[in-house]
Amino acid sequence: MKRTLLAVIITALLSVPLLAGPLKVVCTVTDLGWLAAEVGGDDVEVSVLCPGEYDPHFLPARPSLARKLGKADLLCYTGLDLEVGWLPVLMDKARNNRVRPGRPGDLDCSQALLDVLEVPAGEVSRAQGDVHPHGNPHYLLDPRLGLAVADLMARRMAELRPDLADAFGQRARELEADLRPRIAAWEAAATELRQKPLMVYTKQWEYLAHWLGLEILGAVEHRPGISPSPRHVDQVIQRAKTAGVATLVAAPWNHLDAAEKAASRMGAALVILPAAAGSLDGIDSYPQVFDQIVAQLTAANSK
Ligand SMILES: [Zn+2]
Repeated sequence: MKRTLLAVIITALLSVPLLAGPLKVVCTVTDLGWLAAEVGGDDVEVSVLCPGEYDPHFLPARPSLARKLGKADLLCYTGLDLEVGWLPVLMDKARNNRVRPGRPGDLDCSQALLDVLEVPAGEVSRAQGDVHPHGNPHYLLDPRLGLAVADLMARRMAELRPDLADAFGQRARELEADLRPRIAAWEAAATELRQKPLMVYTKQWEYLAHWLGLEILGAVEHRPGISPSPRHVDQVIQRAKTAGVATLVAAPWNHLDAAEKAASRMGAALVILPAAAGSLDGIDSYPQVFDQIVAQLTAANSK
């Protein structure tokens, strides 16, 4: 009899949802990790799957990452197929029902966007390379969209932990109050960059350019993940020379030897910009990404 009672009590205890302790948030990329930590504060435990120095298009799906994902209460990802090469593999291995598509723990952060840039018209085939069929997913390089994501995260965290809703909302508002003046300052510093078009090595700077009013004339690697044909490279270089382009922008994980070669043929300077928090030494936070981008582009421009 006693034993039965004990079993009933244990069963009852186990079925009570554990609301105590921090919410375990797993983010695919560092910028999302930074935003989640700002919004969640001490009420969340954040871990990131793709380290800042890795190209998020091509992360090896290691078992240790699946174990991390297996513990998540909330999964935040960029979406628009940025993580399509590895996140589904990790999801299969992690077997975590809390973060399956459609569950409250599944957060596609691209839902915060009103406009997606570069949605391809017509059919997309693999021959076009690792092209993003739902549009360009590199929206976190516009900090205004980072704020929209923070707001979305706060609302989802509040759904998962209604007891902490006020704290999440409050932190999202504080982040906005902190970032808005910085965004205005970055915009002001970038006005002088608007006159001079840029070349890029891969197509991931479009949201940055759209935000700051910069003109991108072309991309050396125009099909992500596929080496460009010599003919395409020649054309891009010719276009850069004709327009007097002084800067070729690359991400730290691009093929920097090829980028260096292309830049020198253009007569331009290769500028390696932090494409995410942690992608370059000393750039550890999301705002530092923009501090550095604006500083480097301005310095390159004044040469
Ligand atoms: Zn991409």
